Amino acid sequence: MSARILDGAAIAQQIRTELRDRVGHFARETGRPPGLGIVLVGDNPGSEIYVRNKLRAAGEAEFRADLERLPATATLEDILALVQHLNASPVHDGVLVQAPLPPGVGAGATQMVFEAIDPAKDVDGLHPLNVGFLVQNRPRLTPGTPTGIIELLDRSAIAISGTRVVVIGRSDIVGKPMALLLMHRNATVTICHSKTRNLAEIAAEADILVAAIGHAAFVRRAFVKPGATVVDVGANRVTDPKTALDLFGAGSPRMAAFERRGSAVVGDVHPEVAEVAGAITPVPGGVGPLTIAMLLSNTLRAAELRRIILRG
Ligand code: NAP
Repeated sequence: MSARILDGAAIAQQIRTELRDRVGHFARETGRPPGLGIVLVGDNPGSEIYVRNKLRAAGEAEFRADLERLPATATLEDILALVQHLNASPVHDGVLVQAPLPPGVGAGATQMVFEAIDPAKDVDGLHPLNVGFLVQNRPRLTPGTPTGIIELLDRSAIAISGTRVVVIGRSDIVGKPMALLLMHRNATVTICHSKTRNLAEIAAEADILVAAIGHAAFVRRAFVKPGATVVDVGANRVTDPKTALDLFGAGSPRMAAFERRGSAVVGDVHPEVAEVAGAITPVPGGVGPLTIAMLLSNTLRAAELRRIILRG
């Protein structure tokens, strides 16, 4: 059996097309496009790529998108001042600070920065107020990756209610909000992490398995119940030719691409899982494009809500 591929890129495109009319309506009514301000501190290469992709997607969707850069030597005060500036800006409806912050800003800085973002502009859904609303099943702005995964499951006609779900990973940005969103959709959810015993055994009970770990090809065949839906959140850069050969196989198109580029991005799920799963998200082209589509969706939602509040 070979799993059905859940085409996240196509679904993301569909969502972006649906946003187009609302963006046009907002711009006509207000005389300006919805606006997103992105704060990037330092020069982390991964963050540079993520931010570039977000800016490109926002531009294509006819949003205003501004990148505010600070050097790696920036202090916590510098970052907070920039966040306050964007909070007060009339043309920015969404504000996000790209993580990770440089280690120099100190422990606990990331939380302080997220808490400084106006909750009404918190398009990454990481402010404690928005997290609290999510916990209470009154979601306002929720993190893009897990919100996109719910869209992916719904639009792929994969039932959630009543199913057993296992989420591997408990980060604030993926694992925890994923578990909450699925629980609110009446799934029975188990959260696993690095201290979980008998991980493969627990994972193999899942009708829907979400892997958000950050270890290339960690989830093997033994973790997956035959016919289960597997959502691979991982985005791991592989540069070792031996690992690439093991994952892609000699002579495959992906191996050829790896040989040309010297690297590849792979998920947390081993390719062998496609032989046992019922449905699976590819990497790339699965969860990643949905994360960006949901960022745009959140920014437009924030813009529309702010407009209603400002009109009184
Ligand atoms: P993270 O903050 O590092 O969290 C990883 C989680 O995995 C932690 O809860 C950790 O457990 C757990 N874990 C690590 N090793 C494990 C093991 N051996 N067994 C079981 N659990 C283990 O990572 P994240 O931000 O959630 O991201 C996870 C992955 O998703 C990364 O590859 C990231 O690049 C990718 N990602 C992709 C997108 C996208 O748009 N495609 C968006 C966000 C993240 P502990 O809590 O016990 O340490």
